[in-house]
Amino acid sequence: MANENKLQDIIGHCKEYGFVFPSSEIYDGLGAVYDYGQYGVELKRNIRDYWWRSMTQMHDNIVGLDAAIFMHPTVWKASGHVDNFSDPMIDNKDSKKRYRVDHLIEGFVENLDQEKAEAIIAAMEALLAADDFAGLKKLIEENNIKCAVSGTCNWTDVRQFNLMFATEFGAVASDNPDDNKVYLRPETAQGIFVNFLNVQKTGRMKIPFGIAQTGKAFRNEIVARGFIFRMREFEQMEMQFFVRPGTQKQWYEYWKEARMKWHLSLGISDAKYKFHDHVKLAHYADAACDIEYDFPMGFKEVEGIHSRTDFDLKQHQEYSKKKMQYFDNDLDENGKPYGNYIPYVVETSIGLDRTVMMILSEAYELQDLSTEDKKDDRVVLKFPPFLAPIKLAVLPLTKKDGLPEIAEALMKECRPHFRCFTEEKDTIGKRYRRQDAIGTPFCVTIDHQTKEDQTVTIRHRNSMLQERVPMSDIKNIVLKNLEVL
Ligand code: ATP
Repeated sequence: MANENKLQDIIGHCKEYGFVFPSSEIYDGLGAVYDYGQYGVELKRNIRDYWWRSMTQMHDNIVGLDAAIFMHPTVWKASGHVDNFSDPMIDNKDSKKRYRVDHLIEGFVENLDQEKAEAIIAAMEALLAADDFAGLKKLIEENNIKCAVSGTCNWTDVRQFNLMFATEFGAVASDNPDDNKVYLRPETAQGIFVNFLNVQKTGRMKIPFGIAQTGKAFRNEIVARGFIFRMREFEQMEMQFFVRPGTQKQWYEYWKEARMKWHLSLGISDAKYKFHDHVKLAHYADAACDIEYDFPMGFKEVEGIHSRTDFDLKQHQEYSKKKMQYFDNDLDENGKPYGNYIPYVVETSIGLDRTVMMILSEAYELQDLSTEDKKDDRVVLKFPPFLAPIKLAVLPLTKKDGLPEIAEALMKECRPHFRCFTEEKDTIGKRYRRQDAIGTPFCVTIDHQTKEDQTVTIRHRNSMLQERVPMSDIKNIVLKNLEVL
């Protein structure tokens, strides 16, 4: 069920507590571009590190790569992005507002009863699969779908709109602007494909093996909405797994299961996820599905798993005239080496920002703790401890009596092991609430008794329960709770 209020609450909270700011905010922002603040950057890094570790450190046959954002322009010809990376869109002639056709129709059916909505979505999917643009326009007109701004049904024809950003490379002036044109990569995958042989040969990799990469990607999304769900500049975490032709189905199933396990290891229940198999396959795929999470706006894609055949490597072989083949000296059932072939690829592709949004949506809780005589709300972010920006807050009860010095001693012990934080200002209650709002799993209070017996109070974020423990145990209590995998 869509929950617009929760989404707005999360956006407001992210800004108030330094997770996510609109880009260039003092100039009124830039559409669908966001900056991560002091806590957002830690959360995002923790997610990226966890993904990286699960892919590379936990798989002996997967190695990493960090390819440049700029690539030779022919890469995007070969990959099909110049010709095919586009979405059907439509403009309202009165408001001049542009819509992605599928978003316009999906927005319209939200207010219809289920049966009618499903019929319209099914009709839309069939028309999209057939690239029937006239049919899509007719569907919009027949249902009298109006522009939210002008309120009219006065539409242009449906057209394709390429999502790649182009820029100029180098300072050489040319009469033909296309001479210097390069694209900001719309996906990280191509950096992996063009380096396939470099990594295979220098890493002496044997099939099956994978190459993992995280990095920025850019898409000029027609309608960017949903906060950091759909951005024009975002980060992907992709892994291309190279396999022997004919085994791709089995590896596709393997990665579907492995990726779902990863999602569940984030502490999210399986009721919040579902697979969505693609009906219309991209030009490069022989099977594809999305992992969808139940966002405040409803179930939406967070990760794609695609069986990409040998399409990309074959295309690069053709355009670059360089062999993209692998020699497989394993023996087939007749005892002969499999020999030379272009490998098939199964890829897992997850958006880092969308994962941040998923973790925030899952963690965000507004609790009513009011009593008969006092109104009281608490916003708590229930992050799994290993993802929390700050793991431990060390809070001296007062600013005097040597308590800050004891706090500093504990900080000194913990700082090299995990991110911790100390502050002396405000009542303990207020300081606890601020830590709840940024998702710190543990707070430790240093009080006068600490001076007597070296014990402290540790408060657990989710339960708000407090217990007295030796100060010398704190580092290990926190470390034990950071374990994953
Ligand atoms: P969508 O259908 O939502 O546009 P997609 O199917 O085009 O996504 P892919 O090309 O499969 O997406 O990209 C892989 C992942 O990258 C997506 O699952 C998503 O998490 C992320 N992603 C794609 N586009 C964006 C975007 N504009 N902003 C943030 N993340 C994105």
